[in-house]
Amino acid sequence: MKIWLDGALQEAAGARVSVFDHGLTVGDGVFETIKAEHGRAFALTRHLERLTTSARGLGLPDPDLDEVRRGCAAVLDANPMALGRLRLTYTGGVSPLGSDRGDAGPTLVIALSETTRRPDGTAAVTVPWTRNERGALTGLKTTSYGENVVALARAREQGASEALFANTVGALCEGTGSNVFVVLDGELHTPPLHSGCLAGITRALTISWAGAKETDLPLDALERAEEIFLTSTLRDVQAVTRIDGRQLAEGPGPVTTEAMRIFDEQSAADFDPR
Ligand code: PLP
Repeated sequence: MKIWLDGALQEAAGARVSVFDHGLTVGDGVFETIKAEHGRAFALTRHLERLTTSARGLGLPDPDLDEVRRGCAAVLDANPMALGRLRLTYTGGVSPLGSDRGDAGPTLVIALSETTRRPDGTAAVTVPWTRNERGALTGLKTTSYGENVVALARAREQGASEALFANTVGALCEGTGSNVFVVLDGELHTPPLHSGCLAGITRALTISWAGAKETDLPLDALERAEEIFLTSTLRDVQAVTRIDGRQLAEGPGPVTTEAMRIFDEQSAADFDPR
């Protein structure tokens, strides 16, 4: 397995990042997870735009997108696989313990791992913790994911694959690594960005392709929903068939099935053409 680090391809087993990297010591970093099929990255330009937005939000220098594109292509070419998860990590770089970010420059790591297509349906639970819709990191894809790790562990204990958060005013927000859509009275809704959710790329595509409305929803909309689905880079559109133990359906309902179909059809055109 080869990865990209320090501007070049390297064997993953021998690649080293400093133990004083600010990303490791204080979570001062941003990341992207990108789907790659047969060496072609999905929605790469959108992911690179979001990487830049997240970096700026954290006060990191803009990533060199020419290098990022070169690195992605090199890693994909060096590790052929049918379905991969390309992971870009961009941190504040090496900085002595207890000091602010140093001026040695950022660290960029690009790695790839093999993955499989997610099942069409899954279980989700709500968690008793809230997302902060007004925090300094709200809406940024930072490496400070500890809260998501804890919530996902809670979901797994209950046999679910995703945990859903409300925000501090009790509105439905998002999952640990996905956005959420609900069908109410036959209409498709998803929480707006001001709920504090990440501007998911799959979410944006699903809104425009499947015609969802961005609506402030209370958390208990999940109890009334006729259908619920999740969107993310690795889930694509995935039905929630059980929520907090309530069985919604055996499989995807009609609105979800249509969203899945449109997503599969339309997304075929958005793979990097290299
Ligand atoms: N929300 C969070 C917190 C995420 O981490 C992710 C993706 O990792 C998403 C939503 C979905 O975003 P995307 O569709 O761009 O993968």
